[in-house]
Amino acid sequence: MTDIRIGAEVAHYICGTHQAGNGTRTQPIYNPATGTVSRQVRLGTAQDVGAAVAAAQAAFPKWADTPPIRRARVMFKFLQLLNEHRDELAHLITAEHGKVFTDAQGEVSRGIDIVEFACGIPQLLKGDFTEQVSTGMDNWTLRQPLGVVAGITPFNFPVMVPMWMFPVAIAAGNTFVLKPSPTDPSASLFMAELLMEAGLPDGVFNVVQGDKVTVDALLEHPDVKAISFVGSTPIANYIYETGARHGKRVQALGGAKNHMVVMPDADIDQAVDALIGAGYGSAGERCMAISVAVLVGDVADKLLPKLIERTKALKVLDGENPAAEMGPIVTRVAHERISGYIALGEQEGAKLLVDGRGFDGMTAGEGCGDGFWLGGTLFDHVRPEMRIYKEEIFGPVLGCVRVKDLAEAVDLINAHEFGNGVACFTRDGNVAREFSRRIQVGMVGINVPIPVPMAWHGFGGWKRSLFGDMHAYGEEGVRFYTKQKSIMQRWPESIGKGAEFVMPTAK
Ligand code: NAD
Repeated sequence: MTDIRIGAEVAHYICGTHQAGNGTRTQPIYNPATGTVSRQVRLGTAQDVGAAVAAAQAAFPKWADTPPIRRARVMFKFLQLLNEHRDELAHLITAEHGKVFTDAQGEVSRGIDIVEFACGIPQLLKGDFTEQVSTGMDNWTLRQPLGVVAGITPFNFPVMVPMWMFPVAIAAGNTFVLKPSPTDPSASLFMAELLMEAGLPDGVFNVVQGDKVTVDALLEHPDVKAISFVGSTPIANYIYETGARHGKRVQALGGAKNHMVVMPDADIDQAVDALIGAGYGSAGERCMAISVAVLVGDVADKLLPKLIERTKALKVLDGENPAAEMGPIVTRVAHERISGYIALGEQEGAKLLVDGRGFDGMTAGEGCGDGFWLGGTLFDHVRPEMRIYKEEIFGPVLGCVRVKDLAEAVDLINAHEFGNGVACFTRDGNVAREFSRRIQVGMVGINVPIPVPMAWHGFGGWKRSLFGDMHAYGEEGVRFYTKQKSIMQRWPESIGKGAEFVMPTAK
């Protein structure tokens, strides 16, 4: 296999080959820990997208006709290769995203879960059958693939999020064009090579690198039948509207502001552990990160001293250091945005308990002095009208809101524009049950801070965290990537009774 980490440039993968495409623009790829440029990514053009879609369209008829069990066998082989190369993929993630290596390994594992799910595609594609819907007539429904489908993915999970999409889409008989984030694109080519090695026919999986130019070309291309998007809410909204206007099926997963409610009866040490891991893990750059702690009743007095101590003690180190708990911020631009929000929080009157600005990268590891470093940041007395409460910061910034009881906590969360994930820490089963039923959020954790559903349950938020009808992966994913057909059939002995002019009814 080509070692793409050595290559100076990351480009496209179309019809089974690496291609430079015809674009002239490139973008630097950084190692966020050191702040240095490791290589360039080629930004594709509409023609590059056209070439990828043409390859996918040409491969579609044969792949769709391939028996599901044989498509599943390619997935099984891909699964085996992923397991053999999981650490290489994880190192690639750490090198370009910055998250700590064990976290990157976890990301690869959660992607592998979806491939395991996709290996069961023959069972998942089984249709429904009713014998004798009318005398001598049977009716059945089946699901067929859509054609060429595309995935547009964010920087924060360069392996897992594409794997929410393509294993299910491909196993269901579609062909795929992936447009990864240009921030950390190398893993996309590694996955393409593993798929090729697994025996996937040329053209079934293609990668086009790029930015808005390639996204728009995919949105407008008549042969792209469906778009799966994961990213920020403004872009998700744009993708949903533009894709729909061009007649496509669209699922567009957006941003988040995930709350964790801590009830007065909760185990405080467990809650502190959960807030530290879910607030600062992956430097808060997870769509399921906890960014608001909702402290009920007298919880703040018990919890905050411990939370302050733990936030200050976070081991912020180069992600390749086995002792690291948190790595750098992904880019300089993101670093500036997050630092700006910390300044804004102070101006808005929130109480800054721990300030992550000014964290010295020199202590993060050798050569890290110019990396994009921030420490964990903690605010108290955050209020719902503040921008640091309303907007997604997407960094290691945790805000605490104090409320008097569960009802106020639920009202607060339900009024927020986002509804991706939420958690409630309590020892009271009735509180847990009421919370789960009443909360207007797509994914709920009871004493589980990051309730990312398993592969067969499907992932999706509510409100402005998801545009579209169906969640990612799981059975919802199978439905998204297939369309239903109903067939009614009868055979000769019932034929020859003459034309029927009334609406057919059961006879
Ligand atoms: P982003 O929206 O900037 O980019 C996502 C994708 O859209 C990338 O491929 C990017 O190249 C493309 N893109 C960016 N600007 C575009 C434009 N103007 N027109 C067309 N395409 C454009 O998101 P990001 O910064 O890469 O990722 C972080 C965001 O993703 C956060 O908001 C996070 O909450 C969200 N996210 C959501 C989920 C979820 O499941 N809901 C999961 C992961 C990340």
